[in-house]
Amino acid sequence: GRKFFVGGNWKCNGTSEEIKILLSLLNAGQVPSGDVVEVVVSPPFLFLPSVRTTLRSDFHVAAQNCWVKKGGAFTGEISAEMLANLRIPWVIIGHSERRALFNESNEFVGDKIAYALSQGLKVIACVGESLEQRESGSTIEVVAAQTKAIADKISKWSDVVLAYEPVWAIGTGKVATPAQAQEVHLELRNWLQKNISAEVASTTRIIYGGSVNGGNCKELGAQPDVDGFLVGGASLKAEFLDIIKAAE
Ligand code: 13P
Repeated sequence: GRKFFVGGNWKCNGTSEEIKILLSLLNAGQVPSGDVVEVVVSPPFLFLPSVRTTLRSDFHVAAQNCWVKKGGAFTGEISAEMLANLRIPWVIIGHSERRALFNESNEFVGDKIAYALSQGLKVIACVGESLEQRESGSTIEVVAAQTKAIADKISKWSDVVLAYEPVWAIGTGKVATPAQAQEVHLELRNWLQKNISAEVASTTRIIYGGSVNGGNCKELGAQPDVDGFLVGGASLKAEFLDIIKAAE
């Protein structure tokens, strides 16, 4: 079985005071054991080391991005080897906000994921279509092309969680229906089966992101090919604990 995976992407949010409050909430929460669910929270870079130290030991941390190759003269960037050096186990790569706002291409995202994996990091790799692409009927084509650009560069699928995050559902309150999520997750799994292997298809976690909350998580998480969530807004609140409980 694929272990349920719940990621909390804090994005560019939080003061040290707010994060302290959120951490006490998370640390006090009753959630299913680590055999049932893998929980990873992703604070902004500046807070990563302190969150890693303060966070309960059954939850882990992820960076939200990293540089595409070895560090050096790249002002403002953080390299994968720095994350590995500070024992940050996970990194989110290819989030739609980075693709759209920072012009990250499919190929660049593939290169980043390959480099992060080579440094021993585990990767939450994001794919997802825009509203325009969905309305024109090209959803599957778009997510397959994004996945192919990753698959072309990597082989270590055991260290990858694939996050399907339709752009129109992110931060909009317009969550994909369980059937819409299941359809794309199944297509992605079939793509992996056809293009990588049956083993990779059956073992890779495919998680859903986009307006997940305490109210909709249960039904989404019950879909056979939805193996967890990547949560934005609701990961900054106590509600995140309810979402983790959807693993049960
Ligand atoms: P929201 O949960 O705020 O829609 O954000 C989803 C997301 O982008 C997680 O990476």
